Amino acid sequence: MLQTPTAIAAFQDNYIWALRRDNHCVVVDPGDAAPVESWLHQQGLLLTGILITHHHPDHVGGVNALLEHRDIPVYGPARETIPGLTHPLNDGDRVKLAELDLELEVLDVPGHTLGHIAYHARQPGWLFCGDTLFAGGCGRLFEGTPEQMHHSLSRLAALPEDTQVFCAHEYTLANLTFAAKVTPEDPDVRTRLNDVKALRDAGHITLPSTIAVERRTNPFLRATEPALRQSCERHFDAPLDTPVDSFAALRRWKDNG
Ligand code: ZN
Ligand code: FE
Repeated sequence: MLQTPTAIAAFQDNYIWALRRDNHCVVVDPGDAAPVESWLHQQGLLLTGILITHHHPDHVGGVNALLEHRDIPVYGPARETIPGLTHPLNDGDRVKLAELDLELEVLDVPGHTLGHIAYHARQPGWLFCGDTLFAGGCGRLFEGTPEQMHHSLSRLAALPEDTQVFCAHEYTLANLTFAAKVTPEDPDVRTRLNDVKALRDAGHITLPSTIAVERRTNPFLRATEPALRQSCERHFDAPLDTPVDSFAALRRWKDNG
């Protein structure tokens, strides 16, 4: 049967998500081939496909090596240059992974990069969102505008509340520390920060998160809330008229420490 995705750790803080059913496996954003190969070997699995969210090296760096002895499909954004890409994807496309008996829907989520996509499996309720939505945070705006990223995050926030969020980095502690700085009075943020601290102290992963938790505690999904806007206005000592203005201010605040 289809198993809950496993995180294969790579580099400093990347997670390569492995989806498996029986002895078949598909990986998301293999930035490095070595940890994937050793995990496949150790678990006795056959790699049958690769999903890519965006073109950054820490997400695609292992693709060519994984393809060296395999003839398998590589799914990824049509609007970016992805090594080995066989199935270029656009918003609304569906990916059918027959060996896993899993169907994923593609969402365009520009902002971190211009072609960034996310994969949503309505059943069993999984989201693979790369560097767009993080637990407690969001990706930096390397290529897109605040408006694009705000719109992308709004789309993800609108997914069913029990959707599990599998993002590509272990940034949760730093993100929640920032969230607590922005909304120091918020009890949910405080509680989550403590939970995340405890997990990290014990050497555990903080993922997956859920859309419900993100909507409640991720400041980047709360730009429409007055408390968030007021906090940013105080920090920058300037009025912020729209949710996009608040979002942009929040992103700038986080970027500059
Ligand atoms: Zn990235
Ligand atoms: Fe990344």
